[in-house]
Amino acid sequence: MISVEAALEIILSEVKPLGMERVNILSALGRVLGEDISAGMDNPPWDNSAMDGYALRASDTKGASKNRPAILKIIEDLPAGYVATRVIKKGEAIRIMTGAPIPKGADAVVMVEETEIHGQGTKGKGQVKIFKEARVGDNIRRAGEDFKKGDIVLTKGATIRPAGIGMLAAVGKPNIYVYQRPKVAVLSTGDELVDIEETPVSGKIRNSNSYAIAAQIKTCGAIPVQLGIAGDNKKDLEEKLSYGLTADCIVSSGGVSVGDFDFVKDVLKQMGSEMRFWKVAMKPGKPLAFGVIGGKPAFGLPGNPISSMVAFEQFVSPAVLKMMGKKDIFKRAFDALLTKPVKKKAGRMHFVRATVEQKNGRFYATPLEGQGSGILSAMVKANCFIMLPEDVKDVEKGSTVKVQPMDESLLYQDKPGY
Ligand code: AMP
Ligand code: MG
Repeated sequence: MISVEAALEIILSEVKPLGMERVNILSALGRVLGEDISAGMDNPPWDNSAMDGYALRASDTKGASKNRPAILKIIEDLPAGYVATRVIKKGEAIRIMTGAPIPKGADAVVMVEETEIHGQGTKGKGQVKIFKEARVGDNIRRAGEDFKKGDIVLTKGATIRPAGIGMLAAVGKPNIYVYQRPKVAVLSTGDELVDIEETPVSGKIRNSNSYAIAAQIKTCGAIPVQLGIAGDNKKDLEEKLSYGLTADCIVSSGGVSVGDFDFVKDVLKQMGSEMRFWKVAMKPGKPLAFGVIGGKPAFGLPGNPISSMVAFEQFVSPAVLKMMGKKDIFKRAFDALLTKPVKKKAGRMHFVRATVEQKNGRFYATPLEGQGSGILSAMVKANCFIMLPEDVKDVEKGSTVKVQPMDESLLYQDKPGY
């Protein structure tokens, strides 16, 4: 039996990123960027107005107030998308819209709300009253204040989010390199399993693992390939697992314990797998087999639904994310206070299904009822794992524990968070 840390290290030493493919910006969301993206020009490209108002020389507004406005001559009207044809001189202003380039001669913009047309002003002509003293630079967005030509604006290995899509568009990258998404073959094993369209009778149960694991694969951004159900016999296992070798990675569930019909390890070995380890010091998920067949990682996860999900989360997920070229592949963890005592023996790392919530600036973690490795209903309610290290024994209420959030469940709640 090896530690969780050692198992993870072995797994990660055996997997490497797949190749790249070129995709259109519209298909890039959620993909892992395969190249650094640099800017071909400054953004904004030139100083421009942050407001609708008047571009002017700040010195011309010295001492201006509501009662003693500065009166300037309007020499041009400048919408966004155009460049001024005139240079602003002493006593002059250009009516300017948000985003339009600052005209030559101007060093500030006063917003329209602090001005008033004076007398018979018409479009681009007449005079304007300025009610406020402007300082140099007021309401001017500087060239390059967002990013400069040559800046790396998105880095290789980052997952592309909506803001990244906006950035790709802003720097003019309609097509980019992303890492290929691994195909991950999923096989459920066990004579007791029937597919979910069937009503299980006489000793049978529904195959839930294939679906839960496929969903975990999708959550990683990889592609599940369903191999279906194999019975507890070597022939069936070998046939289906061999087909799995067309994928980039194999994940099976069940049949890796010490039962009389647990043949998965034998069959993987028969197929040429070099077994790297079996059994990890964790709960749930102890009987976990890992091997490599023809350079492809093969995970034999335990059959209990929670064991397989926890083992996937801790081991398969980082491996798949590494294959996808992702830089940050480990789940974040943060400290929380335990609201109930937890019984534990030393010797294995525990992943306790729990809910975590924040109150008065602190996180509180509550273990759920039903910690058996077959209790899917508790897993459904959980939004995190409490991680209790191998050597830790019973943990008291009020102790600080490490909590690992479960996928997106901590991002949403039933009311606004402000
Ligand atoms: P095993 O690891 O094959 O000994 O299976 C352990 C437990 O998990 C048994 O109670 C199995 O019936 C159950 N199990 C195995 N595979 C699945 C599956 N695909 N879906 C739901 N339960 C399963
Ligand atoms: Mg079985």
